[in-house]
Amino acid sequence: MIPFLPDHTDALIAFVHNIYGDSFTPLHRPVFEGNERNYLIDTIDSNFVSSVGARVSELEERIAEFTGSARAIATVNGTAALHIALIVAGVCQGDEVLSQAVTFVATCNAICYANARPVFVDVDEDTMGMSPVALRRWLEANTRHEGGKTINRETGARITACVPMHTFGLPCRIAEIAEVCAEFDIALIEDAAESLGSRVGARHTGTFGTLATLSFNGNKVITTGGGGMIVTDDTALADRAKHLTTTAKVPHAWEFVHDQVGYNYRMPNLNAALGCAQMEKLPEMLRIKADTAARYRAFCAEHGLHFIDPIAATTTNYWLNAIRLEDRNARDAFLDYTNGKGVMTRPIWTLMSDLNAFAECQNDGLETSRWLADRVVNLPSSVPENQFHRLHT
Ligand SMILES: *Cc1c(COP(=O)(O)O)cnc(C)c1O
Repeated sequence: MIPFLPDHTDALIAFVHNIYGDSFTPLHRPVFEGNERNYLIDTIDSNFVSSVGARVSELEERIAEFTGSARAIATVNGTAALHIALIVAGVCQGDEVLSQAVTFVATCNAICYANARPVFVDVDEDTMGMSPVALRRWLEANTRHEGGKTINRETGARITACVPMHTFGLPCRIAEIAEVCAEFDIALIEDAAESLGSRVGARHTGTFGTLATLSFNGNKVITTGGGGMIVTDDTALADRAKHLTTTAKVPHAWEFVHDQVGYNYRMPNLNAALGCAQMEKLPEMLRIKADTAARYRAFCAEHGLHFIDPIAATTTNYWLNAIRLEDRNARDAFLDYTNGKGVMTRPIWTLMSDLNAFAECQNDGLETSRWLADRVVNLPSSVPENQFHRLHT
């Protein structure tokens, strides 16, 4: 007996091997079963491999249509998308930005690139995303709201934006968060890096905020190698974002004028070509991911394990399936054992508030964040190769 190892861990490993095969099982690997090769070769043949080309606009249009956003702006990665979204939302040097400690470090890095500081509020136990109740409680206890601005009473800084994140694809209570933000005149930017395909009712995550950002890193639901996207319904903000991500160049046939310090954040056409092929497969990938999640759910129900489902009236893309174990000892024993057996599992990220870079940032105690960090682990969640073929033939 291995101390603290949850019951049925061996059965779970056998179950994972049954879905994914007997070799090493990664957490999430990309699948290229469609037009990826064709589009890449076409793009190379066209010579437009870099910062100009038709595939970038095509991917932007596809994402705008899929998410139901008026505009989409492609970027080199999701972190760059967040950086620009924060700037165009009005975040200035010395401002504070509300976010959650349960997130990937990119969220907080982008806040720092915009010369602002994160403030962490707690997450909900069920969604693992920002809690609208914790958000309101912190704002009421720590800020004053005057002249259309919310000011942190302790630091004197303006709180300009709020960046909740849809953890592992599970939609957070974004409509409620949007209400709080509107009340306090705080711009809402959704970090939807993990939630392409996740919805609240019929509405896609990323359409509740002023702006939202996506990521197409290699481990996300679809990939462009590296890449990201800003989505918004605000055409003026979209134009500013496009301008800033393309070196702030003033359009002209032959003259090079840049009207401010801009960024070289545009997605290369080669990456966009990969993304266009991936988008063709997205609905099918989402169906297969939901099917795999249903198998995990049934296994967990049968073996007394707690599978984490989306809350009522929301649908998740099942980017990363997650279960909740008894305590930190059970979590660590499970992680050691499964990874030792070639089944890749991992805990929630170390909380942002526990990283040196953000240790001094204000937080609300983060009780639920800590409770979840001790218990939640992700399970292998890729689209299984054999299933993909089966649906094809
Ligand atoms: C992946 C991810 C990002 C963006 O990452 P990039 O690698 O820069 O594309 C941002 N936030 C979260 C929560 C993520 O998971």
